[in-house]
Amino acid sequence: MPSPARHPDRPSAQPDTSAAVVRCCLLLAALLCLALGPVAVPAQGSAEHGEPWRVVYLNSVDPGLPAARLHDLGFHRTLTAGAPAGLAVFNETLDTLRFSPADLTPEFLALLGKKYAYQKVDMVVGVGNGALDFLRNHHDQLWPGAKLLVSGLDEELVTTDRLPAGADLMLLRLDIDGTLALAQTLQPASRRLVVIGGSAPFDRRLVDRVAAQARQRTQWQTEVWPALSVAQLRERLAALGRDDVVIYTSTYRDPDGRATFPAVALAQVADASAAPLYGLYGTYIGAGAMAGRMIDFEQVGRLAAERTIEVLRGQRAAVSGQVQVLSGHCLADAQRLQRHGLSAAALPADCELRNAPRNLWTEYRAALLSAVAVLLLQAATIAGLLLQRRRLRLAEHDAAQRRLELSRAMRFAAMGELTASIAHEINQPLGAILSNADAADLLLQRGVAQPGELREILADIRRDDLRAHEVIRRLRALLEKHEVDQIDIRLHPALLDALAILAPEARRRGVVVERSLDAGDDRLHGDAVQLQQVLINLALNAMDAMDDNAAGERLLRVATQAAGDGLVLTVADSGSGIAPAQREVVFESFHTTKPGGMGQGLAIVRAIVDAHQGSIRIGDRPGGGALFTVTLPRRLQPGTA
Ligand code: ADP
Repeated sequence: MPSPARHPDRPSAQPDTSAAVVRCCLLLAALLCLALGPVAVPAQGSAEHGEPWRVVYLNSVDPGLPAARLHDLGFHRTLTAGAPAGLAVFNETLDTLRFSPADLTPEFLALLGKKYAYQKVDMVVGVGNGALDFLRNHHDQLWPGAKLLVSGLDEELVTTDRLPAGADLMLLRLDIDGTLALAQTLQPASRRLVVIGGSAPFDRRLVDRVAAQARQRTQWQTEVWPALSVAQLRERLAALGRDDVVIYTSTYRDPDGRATFPAVALAQVADASAAPLYGLYGTYIGAGAMAGRMIDFEQVGRLAAERTIEVLRGQRAAVSGQVQVLSGHCLADAQRLQRHGLSAAALPADCELRNAPRNLWTEYRAALLSAVAVLLLQAATIAGLLLQRRRLRLAEHDAAQRRLELSRAMRFAAMGELTASIAHEINQPLGAILSNADAADLLLQRGVAQPGELREILADIRRDDLRAHEVIRRLRALLEKHEVDQIDIRLHPALLDALAILAPEARRRGVVVERSLDAGDDRLHGDAVQLQQVLINLALNAMDAMDDNAAGERLLRVATQAAGDGLVLTVADSGSGIAPAQREVVFESFHTTKPGGMGQGLAIVRAIVDAHQGSIRIGDRPGGGALFTVTLPRRLQPGTA
């Protein structure tokens, strides 16, 4: 018996503790069990007590071997799904391909003995002939009472003598004849059959078995090739005819006796072969074989797990020596068939076709449909956004149009305010013209008209006419309907025209107008009429604000200055001023403190300044009154006007 081992369930047991101490501990544990009720390790039938199943999975070969991996996959997936209260699988491997069991068995036995001394095991599942040989000799000693199943056994190699009681065997029958028949179906015209394989005894036995059965079919001239190096084999396979048939058996050892995996060895040579390769194991599909009646190891693992579940659930009580034979099923590689110019249509109906050319539509239909749906949704969103943007643009354009109309209406309104002074402004030259004409007429009637005197009178008439004409030109320019121009203009002439329009009104109201247009270079990008409107609105407001001032205390100052990359226009008055709290409100439409006011003047001023990408702010004039500061950039940023 193995010596006791440290185990998580039993922290008190020390590896070197004597048997007496162990017995003592066991006794203590048993007493604790009695005192505290059930503990983790039940005596038997763990499934019945809702315990996880404890299964030892003993592999003959390296678990990395493709066949072992597939068996493992099928087994673990199925068993995990079928275990009612969880599962603990203990994986062990003998790796009989690389190591001689005779050399390592004593140490391996000692190790397993130590590992499982206190580990309750419900079932042992061996895989492969090597595992059967080992379990035949040691199962009862290592895992007494545990159920036993051995899967993946080659029917030809297995002996059923000295099986542990209750052992259940799952045998594999290599379908050599079925594979030969398949080759005949696919290549009815073939006359030559070559059997290849490695140098391991297993490989050679299999080569002989295949060759013997092939020779029974008279269609072929059967050749058996010895174990060859990869290079030699590639060369000889390349020299075959495309109608020839190659049966690849296995390569557990190469010609130099080095261990290898059959599927790996196949993959090294398959591409060189002019003739199609057939095989007996499912792992060869994808490694280079074209077809065969093959053992599907994943399916074998699945069946082994199903059998394990039945046994552990107690559905299969006495299973002594039961044997289940699994024959290969027809597998073919679609891409290999194509490469050798053979049609998948020639395959028997039960054949499973693998590596079929990928059809994106059938494979990813759901993903593609959702991608299309997402794209359509995106397109709809984008279209919606574009529509919304277009509507916004139209609305903006509409609003700009309304603003334009309103500002023109407001210009008319402002000129309405100035009617009296403008009439006076025009009347003056007209009156002068009339007086001059009367004077000339009188001189002519009296016959005393001197040509020099008459020329002077005519010059006066012409000057007064031009003066009246100038007033009308300015008004017409201001009131004419025009689209907003954003062009290169000079600011000062525009401001001077506006001041000239305002001058008679200022005179009428007793307002002294000071101007200081110091900006130097006064060029900027904008609309002259709109900027004139800014000045007129601000100036009229300023005059209104000074109405209550005593005569001689009404001062309006208009100035420009260059500032950085822009121009600054200031309009200051000596009126009542604007309280800081009101400085935002006054720009709102319809805000007015005047009896007949419309509350549109400053709203329009701000809209015009915004359209010129400028800013406007209100401050205090030193000495009292309001100070409006308008800052205008010389150049407009594209797209933001
Ligand atoms: P309205 O002139 O029709 O009232 P505005 O929008 O031009 O409309 O002006 C709004 C209000 O702002 C005016 O009613 C006035 O109270 C105030 N305001 C404008 N300019 C000045 C100023 N220079 N001094 C004092 N208050 C002013």
